[in-house]
Amino acid sequence: FISALIGALVALSIISLVLSLVRVEDVSLPPTVKYGMVFDAGSSHTSLFVYQWDSDKENDTGVVSQTLSCDVQGQGISSYANNPPAAGNSLRECLDKALQVVPKQRDVPAYLGATAGMRLLREQNSSATEQVLAEVAKTMQEYPVAFKGARILTGEEEGAYGWITINYLLDSFTKVGKGWDAANIFGALDLGGASTQITFVPEGSVLSQNEASGVTLYGYSYNIYTHSYLCYGQNEMLKRLAKELIVVRVQHPCYPKGYTEPVSVSSLRSSPCTASSDPRLPPGDSTVTLEGSGNASACLAALRKLFNFSACGQSQDCTFDGVYQPPLRGQFIAFSAFYYNFKFLNLTEGQPLAVVRGAIEGLCRRSWQDVQNPQRLPKYCANANYILTLLLDAYKFNETSWNNIFFQMKAGSADVGWTLGYMLNLTNMVPPKAPARLKGHRP
Ligand code: AMP
Repeated sequence: FISALIGALVALSIISLVLSLVRVEDVSLPPTVKYGMVFDAGSSHTSLFVYQWDSDKENDTGVVSQTLSCDVQGQGISSYANNPPAAGNSLRECLDKALQVVPKQRDVPAYLGATAGMRLLREQNSSATEQVLAEVAKTMQEYPVAFKGARILTGEEEGAYGWITINYLLDSFTKVGKGWDAANIFGALDLGGASTQITFVPEGSVLSQNEASGVTLYGYSYNIYTHSYLCYGQNEMLKRLAKELIVVRVQHPCYPKGYTEPVSVSSLRSSPCTASSDPRLPPGDSTVTLEGSGNASACLAALRKLFNFSACGQSQDCTFDGVYQPPLRGQFIAFSAFYYNFKFLNLTEGQPLAVVRGAIEGLCRRSWQDVQNPQRLPKYCANANYILTLLLDAYKFNETSWNNIFFQMKAGSADVGWTLGYMLNLTNMVPPKAPARLKGHRP
């Protein structure tokens, strides 16, 4: 009997040893690759971004990489107000492309975020806005992905998620732990088609609730300042400038000499940014021809009229239209149209402000015969001077702090924009607490 008992005990311990080994095996399975996708439904176009990361590292920083970006053909989704189903169909090509790179397991979270183009449409036609969002959602739900919603971001979300993207990609959040220094955290400057955003961590506290956001990431709390200016994106600015000039004169100092552009007065009514009636405008459906006069200083003067600087009075902590902004701090990444225009003008190499000004003045002086060729060319003088006005007069960068602006569209191999920050936040991949392997970085 005793030997039978010993035999049974030995057998039991062998079984429990085997079981515990199996459990160890279980937890040390190789990590799987996870995916997520986000549509950036901007005012002028929509892009799809697909991201990937290892499942065992998701709470670390800088581990998500961009697998794919896909430009949706055609205009932004707000242009489909009269045909909402076409907005949904426009996404199919990119969804098909994305499904070639992600496994079809239905667990890939898929988001669509719309920005200022849809904010403007909502002001004019809220039921069309809802229909467009319903149609894009319907299309996304037809695909084997985990659809997580299609919605309009607030301007402040757009600013804050862009800021998270940049600092995540540049790994600044973990550098902070190694000795807090504002120089490690970058501000974000985003110039879209219909709105522009500025976001940074100011020195003191943010004195206005509208612009203050508290974000806790990896064990640190950041009080960020963020403001989004609707109607101050590049395309809406060009329209507002045209309207301003039509009522004053028909010469356009930001367009090259010899270039003409017909503008129908009714097209100005299609955007809330230019819809307000003005008795100085010709009535009805008339068409006005803008004639380029290529004059940088007159162009800057015309652009300045788009901003209400006097609404700030004597206050230094104010940009324009009475909007509060604390003093600038640290370095900034300027992306989207800030980058596109400066890239075209070869001004993204950290040139000092005086060189930038000289290059822009030279560009504005060139005649249309001289520069004629790519599509956007007539607009670069206006765009570049607009960027100067916004950065210098409104945001208050100066000769010195100008050198803290880096014009770039990529960080590592990923595009800079709000989409990555949005996905990281919604999938809880930027935890408020420091994960174990980052603990101990606190000073
Ligand atoms: P969004 O579609 O809202 O992201 O807007 C981006 C802005 O950048 C729009 O005003 C576009 O017209 C503008 N944009 C895109 N590509 C270029 C480019 N190559 N040069 C100048 N502006 C551009």
